[in-house]
Amino acid sequence: MTPGIRPLIAGNWKMHGTLRDAAALAEAVRAGAPAGVDLLICPPFVHLHVVAAAMLGQPVAVGGQDCHAAAKGAHTGDVAAVMLRDVGATHVILGHSERRADHGETDAGVRAKAEAAIGAGLTPIICVGETLAQREAGEAEAVVAAQVKGSLPEGFLAAGGVVAYEPVWAIGTGRTPTEADIAAIHAVLRGLTSPATRLLYGGSVKPANAKAILGLPHVDGALVGGASLVAADFLAIAGAA
Ligand code: PGA
Repeated sequence: MTPGIRPLIAGNWKMHGTLRDAAALAEAVRAGAPAGVDLLICPPFVHLHVVAAAMLGQPVAVGGQDCHAAAKGAHTGDVAAVMLRDVGATHVILGHSERRADHGETDAGVRAKAEAAIGAGLTPIICVGETLAQREAGEAEAVVAAQVKGSLPEGFLAAGGVVAYEPVWAIGTGRTPTEADIAAIHAVLRGLTSPATRLLYGGSVKPANAKAILGLPHVDGALVGGASLVAADFLAIAGAA
């Protein structure tokens, strides 16, 4: 953790569940939300409005998993940042490695989306992280630094933008970097951002490893995938922060 930064535990629900599942999971998270930590849940787009309405005035924020860079227009299947804000989202995850891989997202594209998010009043959470090949080639720090330089728009730090370090090879695999490797990347991120920027770690965060990871310097929270789909696990991670 970083003294003076309130931790953020964010759940990335990805493409899981029914509307009923989403409502029940959100309610369980709300009911168990611990004090002293900010909680964020990011449901699929089609569930977002209902979940955001249920969390209105509650201590659980709601975010999108992506947005388009344009405010409106002929972009079939896309969702604008202003639309997310309109239905009650306060945050948006951008540049997740699954979007970079599945949808060919680039640093420049992520930067444009982050600009739109900030313009719409959303807090962007920009994801960066190396592949296993890049880690094994000793390139992890350089890759992450290049992604940060390419993806963060002007005004990002002043707007309270969040950066999430998510090594691609640690996502959904049960594998995590060593604590020293996480700390080393987070030190690089701190140097490239600001003393007040929230820096999250993501990639196979579980109740069993949360305390150790969240205790590392410059780790100000977690972006949680699989474990965020089980309220007890997500709340246990939040409780470790
Ligand atoms: P995971 O996913 O916790 O299931 O590894 C993290 C993420 O992709 O945000």
